[in-house]
Amino acid sequence: MAPPPSTSTTNDLITEKHSSPHPPKLTRRLTGFLPQEIKAIDATIPLKSRALWNKNQVKKFDTADSFQQRFIDHVETTLARSLYNCDDLAAYDATSMAIRDNLVIDWNKTQQKFTTRDPKRVYYLSLEFLMGRALDNALINMKTDDENTDSREMVRNALDDLGFKLEDVLEQEPDAGLGNGGLGRLAACFVDSMATENIPAWGYGIRYQYGIFAQKIINGYQVETPDYWLNFGNAWEIERNEVQYPVTFYGYVERNEANESTLSPSQWIGGERLLAVAYDFPVPGYKTSNVNNLRLWQARPTTEFDFAKFNNGEYQNSVDQQQRAESVSAVLYPNDNFQQGKELRLKQQYFWCSASLHDIIRRFKKSKRPWSEFTDQVAIQLNDTHPTLAIVELQRILVDLEKLDWHEAWNIVTNTFAYTNHTVMQEALEKWPIGLFGHLLPRHLEIIYDINWFFLQDVAKKFPKDVDLLSRVSIIEEGGAERQIRMAFLAIIGSHKVNGVAELHSELIKTTIFKDFVKIFGPSKFTNVTNGITPRRWLKQANPKLDELICQTLDDPKSKYLLNMPILTKLAQYAEDPQFQQKWSDVKKYNKIRLADLMKSLNDGVDVIDREHIDDTLFDIQVKRIHEYKRQQMNIFGVIYRYLCIKQMAKEGKPFKEIAKKFPRKVSIFGGKSAPGYYMAKLIIKLINSVADVVNNDPDVGSLLKIFFIPEYNVSKAEIIIPASDLSEHISTAGTEASGTSNMKFVMNGGLIIGTVDGANVEITREIGEDNIFLFGNLSENVEDLRYNHQYNKQELPKSLQIVMDSLESGVFSTDEQKEFKPIVDTIKHHGDYYLVSDDFESYIATQELVDQVYHNEKSEWIKKSILSVANVGFFSSDRCIEEYADTIWNVEPVKS
Ligand SMILES: *Cc1c(COP(=O)(O)O)cnc(C)c1O
Repeated sequence: MAPPPSTSTTNDLITEKHSSPHPPKLTRRLTGFLPQEIKAIDATIPLKSRALWNKNQVKKFDTADSFQQRFIDHVETTLARSLYNCDDLAAYDATSMAIRDNLVIDWNKTQQKFTTRDPKRVYYLSLEFLMGRALDNALINMKTDDENTDSREMVRNALDDLGFKLEDVLEQEPDAGLGNGGLGRLAACFVDSMATENIPAWGYGIRYQYGIFAQKIINGYQVETPDYWLNFGNAWEIERNEVQYPVTFYGYVERNEANESTLSPSQWIGGERLLAVAYDFPVPGYKTSNVNNLRLWQARPTTEFDFAKFNNGEYQNSVDQQQRAESVSAVLYPNDNFQQGKELRLKQQYFWCSASLHDIIRRFKKSKRPWSEFTDQVAIQLNDTHPTLAIVELQRILVDLEKLDWHEAWNIVTNTFAYTNHTVMQEALEKWPIGLFGHLLPRHLEIIYDINWFFLQDVAKKFPKDVDLLSRVSIIEEGGAERQIRMAFLAIIGSHKVNGVAELHSELIKTTIFKDFVKIFGPSKFTNVTNGITPRRWLKQANPKLDELICQTLDDPKSKYLLNMPILTKLAQYAEDPQFQQKWSDVKKYNKIRLADLMKSLNDGVDVIDREHIDDTLFDIQVKRIHEYKRQQMNIFGVIYRYLCIKQMAKEGKPFKEIAKKFPRKVSIFGGKSAPGYYMAKLIIKLINSVADVVNNDPDVGSLLKIFFIPEYNVSKAEIIIPASDLSEHISTAGTEASGTSNMKFVMNGGLIIGTVDGANVEITREIGEDNIFLFGNLSENVEDLRYNHQYNKQELPKSLQIVMDSLESGVFSTDEQKEFKPIVDTIKHHGDYYLVSDDFESYIATQELVDQVYHNEKSEWIKKSILSVANVGFFSSDRCIEEYADTIWNVEPVKS
């Protein structure tokens, strides 16, 4: 007997409009599969035994002594080690598990409370959660029964008694790098704030085995290595083998012969199945016993077996195929603001959306409410278009499995979802070719066609005269080599609210990419929620000295201000107080030394900066993903220009003092990963490192100018880097950065900003005052005209930029070949300078000169600006964002204990 054909590899199942792919013969049918966790859910302990359970309840530790007992328990039993072989890593594991015990106790209570009260819940679907480290954050957030205990200090002392240093123990933890950059970090800040605000909320994502790659710099080039972050296990996750859902791909659709309509219940016969298994991460709120859940899915093979293959002696083959299931959750795609269109990525998206929705529905069904109450109980937020398939999956579940009428189902769907847009850049907007899509998800393609059909009918009725409108707003884009599904349009049509992430960005989406939808749905569907960051991690954890000074100044010894950040305005009264200014500078100096130590350790033990002049050296920092729109190239061009000017003065025989007056001490610090396939971004990294090589070793320059690229920028590095900044750069081409969040992190740590009028820089300026930020450059409303000019009118470069281009072309910084950096020069000179570096360069240089002047000649003014920045940063707490989402989009209330 021949083996059945595999439906998972054939490429001929290209879907035609409204026709189901031809059912392949002999496809095995798998029926009768029940998720195993259903057994666990009804396994309640009988009443007569409950007293015994309650008597023996596990208790949280709340003293150094009880922590030490837990710690030793975990060392000896969980880790099977002893006092003879307990290293820092074992101490980290034991500490984490002891803390986790406490969190799990509160987590259980929290979830029990939610089950009993059954409030409306929020589900935050994000393909990325850039969590960073968990232990220090848990120590800060964890609540003990005694209000007066500072858990972190208690554990520090307890560890000290046991022979360990907290700082060394914390250093053992690998970052959970399950994200690329801002979008993933936003999701991490949001789960912290949702827990803190007592919102009944769960995050849903993927438990990637490999997070964002580790970046090494070799001979100036970025080299990627895999981030196998689970190598030493993960103390923070709870593996839930009892929570599993089957997920199906490929196959074909069947319908009752009596009812051929795609709107009627249909049966999708999948060709490949795997399991989604839940891993739970407790998310503790700050100063509350509320502990929320982040549920991440891992793909595993099913235990079903293809006997046809087995009988044919293809045992190995059949095992191989099963093993491939695990690849679905194996790796995070390392692109930031760019979509690649790989089938495995779409598989990840469906795998995660399907498992999450079944889990959400299972929870909803526990309370035995009718479907009409679903939207009173469930709000789902889509972090970008990555989870848009959840819209289609919910419609499929309601129509095909729950047998609801199409329109009744669609009404539920659209009232459940809300969509957050994160970009207007074309290359980042998700589109899927219908061939690839229909092959993987044939039933979902039918449903999308039907959603589109009803939508376009409504549009045609409402705007009968606008003939182009239908093709402009259709979910299906025609005209290219292949028709494509526009995921953003599907997300808008399937949601009740759409939000941008900063005011400028939210206005831009309404007037550009989603303009037609504003006309169709009305403006009230489109709204803004300006991003924010959690002050627990980005102030208290990252900058303990600043936290201390704030506590002392506000007479708030327990850092309660972190729940009410606008109260920091009280700092403003000390902005000009010389004594307070001195304390403020001491904190900054401490943080600069901490960063100098890090840079030294990354530089083979050689100091990068002149320690003697550390207060007098401006730390100018740009750390973020490397992208042409973020314009690290403009920053390094500015550094080159400064270098060339210093060289010129030296050549003219100017005395050092005069040069130092014009170009005072500065260290230019860069950090960030490039997508592995992004040629130009990688060349920019190489340029930065090549310029560093030349400048740092030039005796004419000495310690006046240093350049350093910090490899492997991630959350734990950010926590060291950001508090050390005097100045940070947020210099994207106007209209390209949706919000930015590191701008907020820097301001929260008393760093000043040089920035363009883009993203949340606009609101930052409004909040902290325009005197306290260095803005420059063209405005977003002029970008279109400027680009047009570049295309059609030959323009001369400004002289400053011209000499920088000349130096690059002459090979001053080249190490490999003279023309090494020609592609960078060409984008500016010959390829239309899409990111408008030449238009903003002169104003950038002039603004940097102003920065130097204030920093070096008006120190007290500078410190005042720094204090006023922190005093007015309150708006950017992610607690404020979560309140706005809860009130204006989710319609949910906090549930207090
Ligand atoms: C905050 C953060 C980002 C986002 O930075 P932007 O400057 O807003 O792009 C990226 N990576 C890490 C590690 C971060 O902490």
